Amino acid sequence: MCRHLAHVGPRPVTLASRVTEPSHSLLVQAYAPADMRGGGTVNADGFGVGWLAGDGSAHSYRRPVPMWTDASFLDLATAVASPAFVAAVRSATVGMPVSVGACAPFRDGTRIFSHNGVVRGWPGSLADLAGELDTETLMTLEAPTDSAVLWALVRRHLDAGKDPADAVLDVVTRALAAAPGSRLNVLLLTTDHTGDPTLVATAVDHALSWRAGPDGVTVASEPLDDDPDWVAVPDLSAVVVRGAGATTPEVTSLT
Ligand code: GLN
Repeated sequence: MCRHLAHVGPRPVTLASRVTEPSHSLLVQAYAPADMRGGGTVNADGFGVGWLAGDGSAHSYRRPVPMWTDASFLDLATAVASPAFVAAVRSATVGMPVSVGACAPFRDGTRIFSHNGVVRGWPGSLADLAGELDTETLMTLEAPTDSAVLWALVRRHLDAGKDPADAVLDVVTRALAAAPGSRLNVLLLTTDHTGDPTLVATAVDHALSWRAGPDGVTVASEPLDDDPDWVAVPDLSAVVVRGAGATTPEVTSLT
């Protein structure tokens, strides 16, 4: 069931510091994840990183290949530094395509989104919710996947000016009601009008932990190392990090 992480901090750190260098980095979680809960065995169907640049613009690099096979990415990760980024490795849900457009994270100009999990009963279970999207959005989804529809629904709320946490929680709770038993761990990284980042993460039937330190707050499917400071997020919770200077996340229950 895919693995993902996000980091928000007061100063740039390299992508490698979270994605490839730790003892249980996302790179290791691609081929040797520890807590997949029956959702596949490896995360070899692609990967991606999305990061905010100094001007608040969102950028990404995604490939439909195992992360460990992309030597150029392993090099790039040591050179790209950002105060706010998302990274994901993918295990495609049965029936969904392996393509670059299906690889998280998804992004638009200033926002980055990832989904780790599955919408049960796809596509029928999500049809009513997807019906809220305009035809052009549906025609231009990056991939025919549950994750791409969830991203479009969140984006629609953000475009209407909804608070990022409210946008994510509305989509996650309604998707869960429409498709009980779904796994809906999502990450949304966005910025306010001053360029200050907000990170929203959910834990719905899948693993999630966070750690705060002088470099900022990191949220990850699995702890990136054996540091005892990692805190497991209870199931059916949301984690919100408001601002680059946040020293600890707000953790709230979804129920
Ligand atoms: N269902 C999503 C996809 O196929 C996410 C997969 C996962 O989390 N394993 O892309």
